[in-house]
Amino acid sequence: MRLGIFGGSFNPVHVGHLRIAIEVRETLELDQVDMVPVASPPHKEASDLLPFWLRCLILKAAVKQAPGLALNDLEALLPEPSYTHRTLSAYREILPDAELYFILGASDLLLLDLWYRGREMHELANFVVVPRFGKDLQAVADFVPQFWPDAERLSACAHSAQPSNCQACWRLPSGNLLQYVHAPGLDVSATDIRYRFLDGRSLVYLVPSEVEQVLMERREEVRRIWSVRPEGK
Ligand code: ATP
Repeated sequence: MRLGIFGGSFNPVHVGHLRIAIEVRETLELDQVDMVPVASPPHKEASDLLPFWLRCLILKAAVKQAPGLALNDLEALLPEPSYTHRTLSAYREILPDAELYFILGASDLLLLDLWYRGREMHELANFVVVPRFGKDLQAVADFVPQFWPDAERLSACAHSAQPSNCQACWRLPSGNLLQYVHAPGLDVSATDIRYRFLDGRSLVYLVPSEVEQVLMERREEVRRIWSVRPEGK
């Protein structure tokens, strides 16, 4: 099985996340992409984070219309905080024969040094990097050899169903790949969606209608939590 793993706060999930998951699944011919909400985030200021069960409920509604995407809530069962290294290790244990593809935005890759055991994470899964916040192929191409001096740039990506969409590919020291996949940049963020919701503005076309429906059904609780501004914002 070729399985994509897309982790995030998903506070809430939006069309930017969903398109990325679909694009990567199609480009790399993955059987499935798991959306993995963080249970107990180690990095982010978490005061305006909806409870895990509610983010899961929203994700479940979001993936209903998206064949090949699924929710995996395994982080609820793992020790806190939710380090990605632990999540990927758990995947390796549960699915020892699966080929794992960990998906992340380029701006997150550039901060990998700050992640718990970030330098070793490539031992657990292949990496799939997508553009984000203007951090694109050039930023990734500068970062990879500096972070993993033994990484080997491959001349062509033989592992993609649509090679023109996989714009660059490296073999990392573990033998796993880091692939840079071109995906249409949708300028959407969960932060922006939270502000719109608090302002009473429409979320139509920014989140699936099923997501907006869940948010509206629970608007009192959602408003209360999202109104808490994290420090520094
Ligand atoms: P927030 O605004 O709350 O920081 P976010 O929209 O960045 O949230 P996350 O849940 O933190 O969403 O993101 C999970 C992953 O999805 C990260 O790797 C992030 O880079 C990526 N991502 C989020 N939004 C997009 C987007 N519009 N295009 C591409 N990647 C995205």
